[in-house]
Amino acid sequence: MGKSSFYTRIINISDYIDSSNIESVKTRLFDKSMPEPNTGCFIWIGCLFNGDYGRMWVRDKQIMAHRISYFVHKGEIPEDFVIDHICNNPSCINPQHLEAKTQKDNGYRSKHSPTTINAQKTHCKNGHEFTEENTNSTIYGRRCITCVKKYKSEWYLKKIATKERLKKLNHKK
Ligand SMILES: [Zn+2]
Ligand SMILES: [Zn+2]
Repeated sequence: MGKSSFYTRIINISDYIDSSNIESVKTRLFDKSMPEPNTGCFIWIGCLFNGDYGRMWVRDKQIMAHRISYFVHKGEIPEDFVIDHICNNPSCINPQHLEAKTQKDNGYRSKHSPTTINAQKTHCKNGHEFTEENTNSTIYGRRCITCVKKYKSEWYLKKIATKERLKKLNHKK
C-alpha cells in the first residue's frame, strides 16, 4: 500500500498559509508557472517532486504546488481528500484544472481516462481539428500540432525582436 502511505504524509496547509502570507504565496505561484497554450495548463517551472508534482517552500515546509494553488484559490482541502488533475498533468497548478476528490475516487481514474477534458474535445481551443496528422499525444494529453508550431515560432520571433532591441540600445550608448 505504497500509495496510501504517500497520502498520509500530506500536511495541513492552513497551518502554513494564512492572511499574513497568502498574497506572497499567490505571487510566487504565478512567477513559478508558465501558461501552456493548448491545454490551458499553468506548468510549474520550479522544483518538482519525483519529476512530476511541483513543490514550493512555505515557511519551513515544502508543500505540493498544486495543493497550494487549490488552497489559495479555491479554499480549504477537506480531510482525506486528494487534489486531482482533471487535465492529467501533474505539474499543472491552474486552479480550474484541480478538483478535490476522495482517495478512493482518485484511484479509479486512469492516466488516459476518457473522462478527461482533453479526450472529450474534437478541436483545440483555437478550432483546429484533432485529426491524426494534427495531434501529438504526450503524457500530458493531446496537443494540437498547428498551435504548438505557431506558439513556438511566435516565441522565437519575440526572442529575436528582444535581441534586436537590445543591440540598438547598446549601439546608441
Ligand atoms: Zn492543467
Ligand atoms: Zn490548434
